[in-house]
Amino acid sequence: MSDLLDLTAAEAAARVHAGDLERGELWRFYRDRALADDLNAFTWVCTDDDPEAIDPSGSLGGVPIGIKDLFCTAGVPSQAGSKILEDFRPPYTATAVERLMNAGAPVLAKTNQDEFAMGSSTENSAYGPTLNPWDRTRVPGGSSGGSAAAVAAGTVPWAIGTDTGGSIRQPAALCGIVGLKPTYGAVSRYGMIAFASSLDQAGPFTRDTTDAALLLQAMAGADPCDSTALGLPEPVKLPDATDLKGIRLGVPEELTGEGIEAGVLEAFRATLDLARELGATVETTQLPHAPHGLAAYYLIAPAECSSNLARYDGVRYGFRANGRDLLGMYTETREQGFGAEVKRRVMLGTYALSSGYYDAYYGRAQKVRTLIAGDFERAWERFDFIVTPTAPGVAFELGAKTADPLAMYLNDYCTVPMSLAGTPAISIPNGLSDGLPVGFQIAGPAFSENRILDAAHALERAIGFDGSRAFA
Ligand code: GLN
Repeated sequence: MSDLLDLTAAEAAARVHAGDLERGELWRFYRDRALADDLNAFTWVCTDDDPEAIDPSGSLGGVPIGIKDLFCTAGVPSQAGSKILEDFRPPYTATAVERLMNAGAPVLAKTNQDEFAMGSSTENSAYGPTLNPWDRTRVPGGSSGGSAAAVAAGTVPWAIGTDTGGSIRQPAALCGIVGLKPTYGAVSRYGMIAFASSLDQAGPFTRDTTDAALLLQAMAGADPCDSTALGLPEPVKLPDATDLKGIRLGVPEELTGEGIEAGVLEAFRATLDLARELGATVETTQLPHAPHGLAAYYLIAPAECSSNLARYDGVRYGFRANGRDLLGMYTETREQGFGAEVKRRVMLGTYALSSGYYDAYYGRAQKVRTLIAGDFERAWERFDFIVTPTAPGVAFELGAKTADPLAMYLNDYCTVPMSLAGTPAISIPNGLSDGLPVGFQIAGPAFSENRILDAAHALERAIGFDGSRAFA
């Protein structure tokens, strides 16, 4: 294995800063690896010999990055995994991406995803499924499966994705890497092609927690183009904790029992033992409304998407089908341009929002959302963090759940409650089950990213997970 592949992104950046590594060499190394990708992790790869003017003296050190397809990137295909945006090249760049570029990370590739981020396996992409580098007959998770698979396979050093109900944490878990969903509002959504605006949040995919902190540091911040972007109250620092002394971990019964695979629970318990050895106290607790998270999420997210996706009418961007008249063009474009899952959600969401049904569905789901947020508020009175397995199972076989949307939705059981509450959560790899990676989720109060990263750093060192087996 080559030396460059062994380096984390932070290590590569440090070498560039020290003058021991030429950023062009690093770029060409990863460009060639990305071009040789055989996991279908990318929807576009930059073929340039030298990336456009990027200042490697920035904190990201000229280390190239993969960007989920749905981030608008000027002049580069930004299709959100959908045929309806085929070859759409936006005239502007998303704030999050621009901030990464300004901090010295050149965009190497756009990564594959479920169409409009709807899915848990990346099988809903109009550009074909992405394969899991640990086992090519299995899914990488989703919706940001391309970003997760590429980082795990070492075809990009790091990447970003979005998480609406679990789309950063679940694929990170299934691919054996770190994925962080920041507090809602920490990172600007400007230029992120919208799925469910009250839930969507951008975050990093990395090999370790230090790399995750570096990316978050660069991405987070208020933005005049997104009134919901607050940034973080304190600068993101690089994690350095080596123990968990005085840290109180709450283990919610509802998310750590029924429905979770035995091998996943075994890894989870082993990590709790490590946490105790590092000085943490571990106590069982309750998030009584969390089991209703999926039901609420699968009303709120479709409702918001039905509104957000109304703009794809064949007039303004991307794909247009022929129709007899204007209405015919609209309907043909949407019929041909959207995949089955997107249509299912637009129909569900439109129904849930229709007059007479609003109170029964959307209004009620919002009330459940408030109750779930209240469960977390009460938990923070007693605990620093809530910990759970990230996903109920390991990576499943391609095609195993495509015919059963409800089975697919269950993947988000442990991640959706934090999304509804708007709180930050990280997934770190904590072992293998049947030879496949398992993720450990640490969730904390709003804006506790620095503390979450520190706790994850201490655990990561103790776990000593070796992800290099997935390098392609
Ligand atoms: N799997 C969930 C869904 O299909 C979450 C997706 C996401 O977080 N973007 O909606």
